[in-house]
Amino acid sequence: MSLKLDGKQLSLEIEEKLKKDIESYINTSKRPPGLAVIRIGEDPASGVYVKNKEKACSRVGIKSFIFHLKETVKQKEVEQLIHKLNLDNDIDGMLLQLPIPKNFDEQKLISQINPDKDVDGLNELNIGKLVKNEPAMRSCTPAGIINLLRSQNIKIEGKKIVVIGRSLLVGKPLSLMLLNLNGTVTMTHSKTINLNKICKEADILIAAAGKPNLIDSSFVKKGAVIIDVGIHRLTSSDKSKTRLCGDVLLEDVIPKVFAYTPVPGGVGPMTVTMLLVNTIFSWQKQFGLSSTLKDLLP
Ligand code: NAP
Repeated sequence: MSLKLDGKQLSLEIEEKLKKDIESYINTSKRPPGLAVIRIGEDPASGVYVKNKEKACSRVGIKSFIFHLKETVKQKEVEQLIHKLNLDNDIDGMLLQLPIPKNFDEQKLISQINPDKDVDGLNELNIGKLVKNEPAMRSCTPAGIINLLRSQNIKIEGKKIVVIGRSLLVGKPLSLMLLNLNGTVTMTHSKTINLNKICKEADILIAAAGKPNLIDSSFVKKGAVIIDVGIHRLTSSDKSKTRLCGDVLLEDVIPKVFAYTPVPGGVGPMTVTMLLVNTIFSWQKQFGLSSTLKDLLP
């Protein structure tokens, strides 16, 4: 039987540890860790993600500060808010909830976040340190995937790993983290020729294309590990029901693989947990406390 890489369960276990870490350090710090989330506009999925982050923070004892800005806000005003939060001593982590409306310069905003507070790991300084394999804030989804693999002692070193997708959010940082851990990594994208053949050589196949059910069993080597990053809400033909699926046609793939991540309950919960880890890591650093979280930071 294939092994389910249960992100929900692992998140709960890590959250327990995080809660204890905060409790044991709060006497020294005299304040809880603080996370600021900036949301612009009314994208409904972003609303759900921000709510989930807020709830996760309150479960472990992080204070969250939500800034929900109107779509009509000016780029300059968002930049001013970022600068204010950069200087705010109660804020250890800050993120811009993506996507934001097209009229904003997203990269310019992200590059103004203090790298030490950049809990999404998207600032160019943190990406540069990842390229150099130096310690820095790491982006949450890739870091969550590494922890899922490690939790079941799935070896990365020496393995052939194929990543489908080259986005700044997932594919690129993930490929770099795996490379830093001595995997032999192939990064693929929408212009890759013969994707099926390349994927079939993978010991670990990671699908982050954002295309529902793109990967069926014909892409997968027997005994491989498959990680499904995609998340899609599909509506039934009569529009009466919706269900979540990933980039992988799981029922077709599961019988062939050694291990897989479910959707939902695989990569998704780990992304939120890594945001908590990064925020607490930054808080510990701010107070010169020795970090208990280094093992979770790839
Ligand atoms: P993205 O920015 O749209 O990037 C998608 C990448 O996949 C691009 O590099 C694209 O290639 C490539 N691609 C698209 N179609 C392909 C195909 N048919 N064959 C091979 N490559 C293909 O998406 P993203 O932000 O990386 O997110 C990917 C998926 O993960 C989405 O479903 C998103 O919702 C999900 N996600 C989940 C979590 C989580 O916590 N579970 C977190 C983040 C994202 P090009 O570069 O050539 O266009």
